[in-house]
Order: sequence, then C-alpha cells, then structure tokens
Amino acid sequence: MKRYRMHVNGEPVDSCSGRAFPVYDPSTEEVIAEVPQADAADVDRAVAAARTAFDCGPWRQTTAQERGRILLRLAERVRQESANLAEIESRNSGKPIVEAEFDMADVATCFEYYGGLATKVLGHVNPVPDNALSLSIREPMGVAGQIIPWNYPLLMAAWKLAPAIAAGCTCVLKPAEQTPLTALEFANWLADVGLPPGVVNVITGFGEETGAPLVRHADVDKVAFTGSASVGKQIVKMAADTVKRVTLELGGKSPNIFFAGADFEAAIDGALFGVFINQGEVCSAGSRILVERPIYSKFVEAMTEKAKHIRLGPPLERETKMGPLVSQEQYDRVNSYVELGKKEAKLVAGGKRPGSLKRGFYMEPTVFCDVPNSARIAQEEIFGPVAAVIPFSDEAEAIRIANETRYGLAAAVWSRDIFRAFRVVKALRAGVVWVNHMQPTYVEAPWGGYKQSGFGRELGPWGIEEYLETKQVHINLNEQPIGWY
Ligand code: ADP
Ligand code: MG
Repeated sequence: MKRYRMHVNGEPVDSCSGRAFPVYDPSTEEVIAEVPQADAADVDRAVAAARTAFDCGPWRQTTAQERGRILLRLAERVRQESANLAEIESRNSGKPIVEAEFDMADVATCFEYYGGLATKVLGHVNPVPDNALSLSIREPMGVAGQIIPWNYPLLMAAWKLAPAIAAGCTCVLKPAEQTPLTALEFANWLADVGLPPGVVNVITGFGEETGAPLVRHADVDKVAFTGSASVGKQIVKMAADTVKRVTLELGGKSPNIFFAGADFEAAIDGALFGVFINQGEVCSAGSRILVERPIYSKFVEAMTEKAKHIRLGPPLERETKMGPLVSQEQYDRVNSYVELGKKEAKLVAGGKRPGSLKRGFYMEPTVFCDVPNSARIAQEEIFGPVAAVIPFSDEAEAIRIANETRYGLAAAVWSRDIFRAFRVVKALRAGVVWVNHMQPTYVEAPWGGYKQSGFGRELGPWGIEEYLETKQVHINLNEQPIGWY
C-alpha cells in the first residue's frame, strides 16, 4: 500500500496533525493507499505558500511565454506517464481503463491548449474623448482555491490548474477525498517543469475539514468549485464574507430529447451513451430521456434490451464498459434513488447489484420508464447509472418538460429536421446543447451551466477569463495643469 504526501511550497509534506486517511479501490473495496488528512492548519500553510508565491515570488515576473512553456511541458509529461496515470485513475475511481485513457489524453490536451493560450491574452485601448491613453490590462486574480469532484479526478484538476497557471495565478487544489491519487502523482512533476515553489499546492482532505477553510480563507482571492449543488450553495455563502470571486459547476438533470424522425439506431446509442458513460457519474449525464410518443414503446424496448448487455466488470479489464460506483456512500445514494424510483415509475432494466460480481460497488445500468417529470428521480441529480424515460406529444411539450428543472447544465436534441432542432436549441435553458449527439466535450469550447447548475465558464478562452482581473489604466497625455481651482 502506497503512502502519499501532499505538495505544499514545492515540498512533499504530511499533514500538520500527522493524520492520514485511506483511499479505496471501489471494485475490490480494499484500501490501496493512504493520504494525508489536511485540516485548517494545512490550509493555512498551503494558502500562505500560494500567497507568498503570488505576492513576492518570481512567478509574477514570469512572462506569458514562460508560463506557456511550463504548461506545454506539463502536457508532455502527462502524455509520457499516461499509461500509469490511467491505471491509477481507473483503479481508484472505478472507471473503465479505456475511459481513463481518454481522460489522460484530455488532460494533456487541456495543458497544451492553455499553454498556447497563455500568450494570447489581450488588453484593450479604450477610445476615450480626451488627450489620454486609456488602457484595459489583464492581470491574474491572485490565489485560487480549487475544489474538485471524484468523477474525472485528474481531468477536473487540469480544467482548474491549466487556465490558472496560464493567467499567472497561484493555486491551492483540493481533490475529492475519494480520488486524490492522480493529482498527487501529478504534483511530483511541478518542480521538474519549472514551476516555482508555492505556485501549485495540492492538499488532501475532506469537505468540511479542508474544503471549507480553504473557501473561507481571507488570503484566497478566488474559489473554483465543481461538485454537488448543495455544497455549491454553501460555498457561495462562505465566499460572501470576503467577497471572493466564485465559479461553480454544480451538475444537472440534463434532458436528452428524441423526436420520432431521428435515426433510430443512433438515437438508442445516444440515449445509452448519454446516461451510462462513466457509470452515469457525469455532471452532464442525459439522465432524463424524453421520447416522442410515436416511437416511445419501441424506444424503451430497444434501449432496455441494449442496456442489459452493457458489460459490467473490473475497471482494469479492457472489455469493461461500466465499472463500480466510486464508493459505498455513492452506491447507497444511487440505490436509495432506485428504491424510490420503483414507487414513482416503472423499472424496466437493472436496479440492482449484478449477481456475478460479489464485491465492489457495482450497480446495473438502470432504466425507469413512464416517469412523470415531477418525480424525484426526474428532478434530483442521482449521479449514477439511472435513466428516467419520459414520453412527450409534441415539440412544445418537449421543451416545457426539458426546462422544468432547477438545473441547466446540458441538454441534447435528436432530429433530422434542422429547423426543429434549432428551435429547440434556442428554447432550452442550458449552457451546453448537443444536436444528434451527447457528451463530447472540447477544451476549445465553453463549459458551464444556466440556472442552479452554477455560473462562470470553464475551457476555451472563457476558462482563462475566470482567472483574470481587468485593470483600467489612464495615462494623461496633456502636460498642462488640470486648472480647476
Ligand atoms: P459528493 O457529495 O458527490 O461527494 P460534494 O459536492 O460533496 O460531492 O464534493 C465535491 C468536492 O467538494 C469534494 O472535493 C469535497 O471534499 C468538497 N466539499 C464537500 N463539502 C464541502 C464543504 N462544505 N466546503 C468545501 N468543500 C466541500
Ligand atoms: Mg459530499
């Protein structure tokens, strides 16, 4: 069993208290590692390192070119180590190894993208009506506290760290307690790629004990959070005391809408992929599947049949299409929604632990049909492999049901009618909308939600904006005194 250390101020460190906690393999339920259990004292130490690196260190003098090169070196290193990283990620999170490999490629691409973008941040000359040069210049926000979830552990770290480094911020990253290993492996290379001590700090611990003091800390300028809506709401309140900048990505209950004219095979595939990829532990999961009545019965039947053949198994086997859920806690949460769903709708597939897998937090791909959109399984984020299939009669009803949710992260619409598809796209209140697909995500394009799915955007040029302040500079070109008094 490996004993990890955190990374603070360029040094591997244990927690101040000396405490550590176990990290599990959710497919065997065995402990695979131990990591330091940070508390407020460790947060103080990490934030002090990030603050000093920002205020006094060489970091502020680095050029955008240098920061870009550092990011490119990180991308390269991730590529070199991707097989090992993918294996650790798969073992720790339960996601199929093939998916973990895709994640690592996306991690590298994210560092590469922001490596390129670092030198493309532009200021502005404001056309003021005076003999003056009015400039808007962009500056890093300062110290960023970054709190991430367990579903895409290293990818979520990359989405947070890469734009922050490109912008010239310093960071304290707290991975989820369930899945801290790849971020700690990654932290080993920070010095090798030329990051000065204190620019990126990684501390491991739990939400209340480690995350909350990080959010409250007076020396943290900005908090970036991806996680549950309930914690997101607490973060906004905690951050209010010090008027921190906050960005939030809080998941959703995304509608995946199928009109009768859509290609049927593609639709079934898209419905399954939309909701079951990564065991359904996806913030943008297409967990509400809206199907037009003429194809409804055939659709439910075909989807159910195909769902039953999705291969569950050990995450490290290459044939595995679905691994275990991340933890006992998550299994219990998903299972309680399955029990609830049996009262609210009709269970047509899954709904239990597969008989063939004796250990591990496995849940079969689960499909409920005839789900009223007001049901809790249609309104609350389950974050597991549970689909709620809902019939609709016409376009207006599809739009109404789709928008009848407090969330607004993502949505998808399947139709061969381009006019209809675009009408629906415009009517949907969601930050990401796919047409005839669901889930592809690109580092070049913005990611984030409407409504209670959060605010702010990650990725693309939008991602770096969230780590930049704007400073207005006025340079007087008139040598005469003001002459007012
Ligand atoms: P889940 O319930 O699925 O674990 P959470 O929103 O609780 O999702 O967790 C996402 C991240 O937020 C994790 O890194 C977790 O440690 C952190 N977290 C949880 N509670 C708090 C809190 N009160 N303050 C700050 N961070 C928190
Ligand atoms: Mg939690």
